[in-house]
Amino acid sequence: MGIIENAKEAVKLVQQIDNVELYRKILDLHSEAMELTEQLKKKDEMITQLRNALELKGKLVCKDSAYYLEDEKGRTDGPFCTKCFDVDKVKCRLVADNREPQVICPNCKVSFSSKPLYHYLRPDVEADRKKLLESIRHENMRREF
Ligand SMILES: [Zn+2]
Repeated sequence: MGIIENAKEAVKLVQQIDNVELYRKILDLHSEAMELTEQLKKKDEMITQLRNALELKGKLVCKDSAYYLEDEKGRTDGPFCTKCFDVDKVKCRLVADNREPQVICPNCKVSFSSKPLYHYLRPDVEADRKKLLESIRHENMRREF
């Protein structure tokens, strides 16, 4: 029998004695037991969350102001926001903004400039740039002849 069930049982027994003062004290104890049980549950959830974050922290690699997660097979996942993970223990993916080279976190809304991150997130932009440079070079070479 748990603490809440014991408190309920004590409330029932005290009701039979017909002592108002004792009945009030037992009711107070019952509500305090319920409150403590709820606090304990929240602390257990927090411990689980911190354990998971600590375990994950050991697998995270910080590079270019972002976290990357590497699995046993060497595959990389990310980039993740360092602020969200360090402060809130949340793994949130950074995304490329429309304004190159701005990178933004959809969770905490932090925005910062990072060419390496932007090009990692938007390899198509870098490929388009190379194609454009190549076509300009071609055009210049054609004009020289
Ligand atoms: Zn964030």
